[in-house]
Amino acid sequence: MLKVREIFSSIQGEGIYVGRRQIFVRFAKCNLDCDYCDTAHKREGKFCIVNGKRKILKNADDIADEIKNLYTKDIFSISLTGGEPLIYTSLIRQIHKRTDIPLYLETNSTLPEKAYEIKNLITYAACGIKINYPKFYNDSLKTIEILSGKNLFVKVVITKDVDTGQIGRLAKNIKNIADPPFVLQPQTGIKWDKIYKNNLLEMSETAGNYLSDVRVIPQLHKFLGFE
Ligand code: SF4
Repeated sequence: MLKVREIFSSIQGEGIYVGRRQIFVRFAKCNLDCDYCDTAHKREGKFCIVNGKRKILKNADDIADEIKNLYTKDIFSISLTGGEPLIYTSLIRQIHKRTDIPLYLETNSTLPEKAYEIKNLITYAACGIKINYPKFYNDSLKTIEILSGKNLFVKVVITKDVDTGQIGRLAKNIKNIADPPFVLQPQTGIKWDKIYKNNLLEMSETAGNYLSDVRVIPQLHKFLGFE
C-alpha cells in the first residue's frame, strides 16, 4: 500500500513560513483524529495524487522523481505533512537521501522518539500542539525540546474549546525548554465573532508573558483557494 497520498507544489499557508512555495509530500495515516482535521489522510491507498493526477508510485525513487519534476526555483523546502509523517521515518530517510531540498517537518508532536530518530535530517520544523489530547501533553513538550534547534515554531489551532488558561500553561511550560515562535491559529470555517476575537487577543497577551514571539496567523491557503 502506498504511504504517500499526495505530492503537490503549493504555498505554505500556516505558521511563520506562510507564503513560502513548497513541495508538499502528504503521508497517509495519523495516530490522532482531530474534529477539525481537513486532510484526506485516513488510509494508505493504491494511488498517489501528484499535482491532481492519480499515479502509482512504488518506492522512494518514484517519490523523489516526482519531487524533481515539481521543482521550481522558488521552492523553499519539502513539506513532510500528513496525516502524521513521523509514522514513516524510514521512508523519510530514503527521501532525504534522494534530494538536496531542505526538509520541513509538520508534526502533531505526539511521537518524540520518532522525532529524535530523524531530527538530523530536518531543517525546519512545525510542532502542532493538540491541546485537547492531554495524554500527549508531555510527549509534545519532549518533541519541542528535540526539534528546538530546527528553525522550529509551535502552533496551536484555537477552536472554541481552547481557553486562555490552557494557552498560558502551555506557553509557560514551553518557556522552560525553549523560546520558539508561538502561533495561535484560529480554526478555519468558524465564525470569528467579537467574543472569539477578544479571546484570541487575551491568549496572545497571556502567551506573551512567557514567550518572546507570539503571533495570530490564520490559514492563508484557504483564503487563496490553494490546496
Ligand atoms: S493530527 Fe493533523 S492530520 Fe492528524 S487528525 Fe489531527 S489535524 Fe488531522
